[in-house]
Amino acid sequence: TPALHVTEWSDVRDWWPRTGASSEKYRRGVVGVATGSRTYPGAAVLSVGGALAGPTGLVRYAGGARDEVVRQHPSVIATDRVAGAGRVQAWVCGSGLGTDEQAGAELRAVLAAPVPVVLDADALTLLVDGSLAGRLRDRDAPIVVTPHDREFARLCGEEPGADRVAAALRLAAWMNATVLLKGDRTVVGTPDGRAYVNPTGSPALATGGTGDVLAGLLGSLLAAGLAPERAAVVAAYLHGLAGREAARGGPVTAPDVVTALRTVAAPLL
Ligand code: AMP
Ligand code: MG
Repeated sequence: TPALHVTEWSDVRDWWPRTGASSEKYRRGVVGVATGSRTYPGAAVLSVGGALAGPTGLVRYAGGARDEVVRQHPSVIATDRVAGAGRVQAWVCGSGLGTDEQAGAELRAVLAAPVPVVLDADALTLLVDGSLAGRLRDRDAPIVVTPHDREFARLCGEEPGADRVAAALRLAAWMNATVLLKGDRTVVGTPDGRAYVNPTGSPALATGGTGDVLAGLLGSLLAAGLAPERAAVVAAYLHGLAGREAARGGPVTAPDVVTALRTVAAPLL
């Protein structure tokens, strides 16, 4: 069995990117978010919210929810298509994207960019439907996938089962990707066999849209230059803390998690 690391606050503090007083917005990194659609604008707003809570200096949005995104987040630079979005250091793709032809084209545009990508939700469905999951092995830049159990089952053909660490590592090895397997104890597995368990989960997060917030935050950490496994581990930890923080105010909705992320990340800034 591989060494299993339980994340601690000190890991998050040590790995969170240091920007320094003199840093400028482009130097802090630019993250691109290709999520949501006209049908599901909320997924775009939430993943952009997660990205804005991260360490990057700029968020670009590309997709069908650009008007809604800019209304909710005026600091974001928004376009309709990934191809026209400009330079980013990482992409987040998936939730609320849909699975139609245009969604597939946007996913391919994201995968063609020579930067790390986070793939979630509809992007994972598109990978399965296009039999692409096993064919991403040779992509040069890193991939992080963030399935919940049903998405995992679609990718792998079977449920994660009782040994979630082994399950995450299996998928990671097969895809040559970092796997963040979501649940009450989220697991991160790497293609070379390292595994992490997140101790900060909160049942408050078991509500619609919180996974979109996580994906956005993860993309921001990648764009700021963190290695994929560290970005995944830090994102899961802070997201769990944010769920707990948000729950202090009563029933939690995903926008509350965005707000709470800023609070829990404040000591890191
Ligand atoms: P999604 O299903 O994509 O919206 O993601 C749900 C998010 O909530 C993930 O980050 C999960 O790890 C988290 N989550 C779901 N259920 C629980 C639970 N019972 N306890 C802790 N975290 C959970
Ligand atoms: Mg989800």
